[in-house]
Amino acid sequence: MTNPVAKIALEEHFMAPGFIDYFNKTSINISPELFGKALNALQDFGEIRIANMDSIGVEKAVLSLSGPGVQAETDTAVAVRKARECNDFLAAEIAKNPTRYGGFAHLAMQDPKAAADELERSVKELGFSGVMINGQTNGAYLDDDRYSVFWERAADLDAPVYIHPYNPPDVPYMYHGHSELFGPVWSWTVETGNHALRLVFGGVFDRFPKAKLILGHMGETLPYQLWRFDSRWEISNRGSKRLDMKPSDYFHRNIWCTTAGVCSDEPLRCAIDAMGAERVMFSVDYPFERPEEAGKWIDAAPLSDEERTKVCYQNAMELLHL
Ligand code: MN
Repeated sequence: MTNPVAKIALEEHFMAPGFIDYFNKTSINISPELFGKALNALQDFGEIRIANMDSIGVEKAVLSLSGPGVQAETDTAVAVRKARECNDFLAAEIAKNPTRYGGFAHLAMQDPKAAADELERSVKELGFSGVMINGQTNGAYLDDDRYSVFWERAADLDAPVYIHPYNPPDVPYMYHGHSELFGPVWSWTVETGNHALRLVFGGVFDRFPKAKLILGHMGETLPYQLWRFDSRWEISNRGSKRLDMKPSDYFHRNIWCTTAGVCSDEPLRCAIDAMGAERVMFSVDYPFERPEEAGKWIDAAPLSDEERTKVCYQNAMELLHL
């Protein structure tokens, strides 16, 4: 048996004390069996997690709180305080094993200025690599003007913003009678892909050209659609909106994606061919996907040696300053 290819993984989740009630809100999206199993794995920073990483060659896992975290908190002051506690908790866990773990900040997006300040603290003082945001917060998406202070700081810090799926503020009628579609099977892809397109078409990357966005799940299907975004943008009802570049250009300047939760060759090839081999990064989505499946798949996927090194290791090293 050959050794697995060396890897960094960056959609790898944990659970912090005091955050399980927020996590329980996702029980409407996930089967009770997986939910129970996941909770144990999420709280382990020791032997089980390391053994899973070792088995597929993951040298470093960049950890993020399993959502929605304080983004589901109704009291903004509590959200700000608990986000800070979460980041301190993660920093203490990373300090026990700093060669194997990195971190993404958890932020209270209810208060954009406090979120920007906590991102700065997390990057500069705690050594984190960026931030993971679990979709909308009280109905606000990241293209909202209130988040200019946040994007400006993230760009100044060169800190990537990873948008992780969560639910929309209400259950859209199109899911009526189809609870199986509301969650990871489909609605999270729609919600998160749409969130990213709000940023592109809302001109966030014109205002903050150095901002960096990461999407999981092989880009939430967006790489498949790039030509059509450009083509239909030409004839759509744009209102007064303008962009400095073609919509697809932002996918070559501001956006990266991970393989988290997708272990199949066709979308991998599509993401690489559409966005470039330097913009796709291996991830597992631990513990919601099986590491051995993700690891064996990427090791044998139809990539050149150069592409595989970029996807498994080099791109994350460079983007996350590891
Ligand atoms: Mn995930």
